[in-house]
Amino acid sequence: MVQKIKISTNGAELSQIVLGFWRLRDWNLNQQELENLIRQSIDLGISSFDHADIYGSFTCEEIFGEVLKANPSLRNQIQLITKCDIVFKSPQRPQYNFHYYDTSKQHIISSAERSLQNFGTDRLDILLIHRVDPLMNADEVAEAFNELKQSGKVLNFGVSNFLPSQFELLQNRLDFPLVTNQVEFNVMHFDPMEDGTFDLMQQKRVSPMIWSPLAGGRIFTEQSEQANRLRSTFAELSEKNNATTDQLALAWIHKLPCNPVSVIGSGKIERVKSAAVSVNINLSREDWFKVWAASKGHEVP
Ligand code: NAP
Repeated sequence: MVQKIKISTNGAELSQIVLGFWRLRDWNLNQQELENLIRQSIDLGISSFDHADIYGSFTCEEIFGEVLKANPSLRNQIQLITKCDIVFKSPQRPQYNFHYYDTSKQHIISSAERSLQNFGTDRLDILLIHRVDPLMNADEVAEAFNELKQSGKVLNFGVSNFLPSQFELLQNRLDFPLVTNQVEFNVMHFDPMEDGTFDLMQQKRVSPMIWSPLAGGRIFTEQSEQANRLRSTFAELSEKNNATTDQLALAWIHKLPCNPVSVIGSGKIERVKSAAVSVNINLSREDWFKVWAASKGHEVP
């Protein structure tokens, strides 16, 4: 059973595995099948669900919201995360003519309010700034966050794809903690472990949310020397740890001392069940570094 963990000193909690809905439209689920996926995930302890206003070209929140509207009791059993600031032209947003970022106060508030409407709820558990906006005025973002917090429309705030200096900039203008930085990290992509992101998260006792924890599926399919090395290392570790490749790749992430939460992206319940088991695997240091070495193609110095 996946447990909820504290992701911030303010007591905010998420399930250690979060289910992400970026690919929802590719899953081709009808409403009943989506409801089943949500309920079965909750039964596994996976109660936190990651969205963004833009997913499915601004349609996924509403598709998910149809299930919540038809089953109002689900809302209190789950944590809803969504994001804002990316805009692009789509049939749902004909007012936009170009792809850009908007962290103006007006955009953040109207985007959050639209997300509430899409989900049919009165509150978002976490709202994230989706990508770093070079025009971000931290005072203005803080004003938007304060207003959304005071009205009770958003309970907690965070960021995504921020570098440590960008996280600190925004944090310095807030009198409450940012509860996460959602970043790309997996056995094929080490950036946040090497650019200070995870150091800052550990220092602040804030859990990063990890997107594409299975490299978007590339660890299973990619034809490259790195992927081949990783697959043969996982094959070696599988028997010893009684675990599959996906479980080992997630356990490798969960070994990090910054206490990360993994946002998986499959709509297949067998894969969600398999991910749930990963939280019980504690890789040894030796095995963790074998995966590190397989990814890099050499041992540590
Ligand atoms: P992921 O879990 O790394 O990748 C999911 C993909 O891996 C799916 O296509 C899935 O295929 C495939 N897969 C999983 N297990 C597999 C297996 N055993 N064998 C073969 N293929 C397998 O995560 P992701 O979907 O890339 O991202 C997860 C979530 O992160 C998104 O839904 C979104 O919520 C969030 N995200 C955030 C950002 C950001 O900027 N903040 C960016 C991207 C994503 P099947 O569909 O066949 O299972």
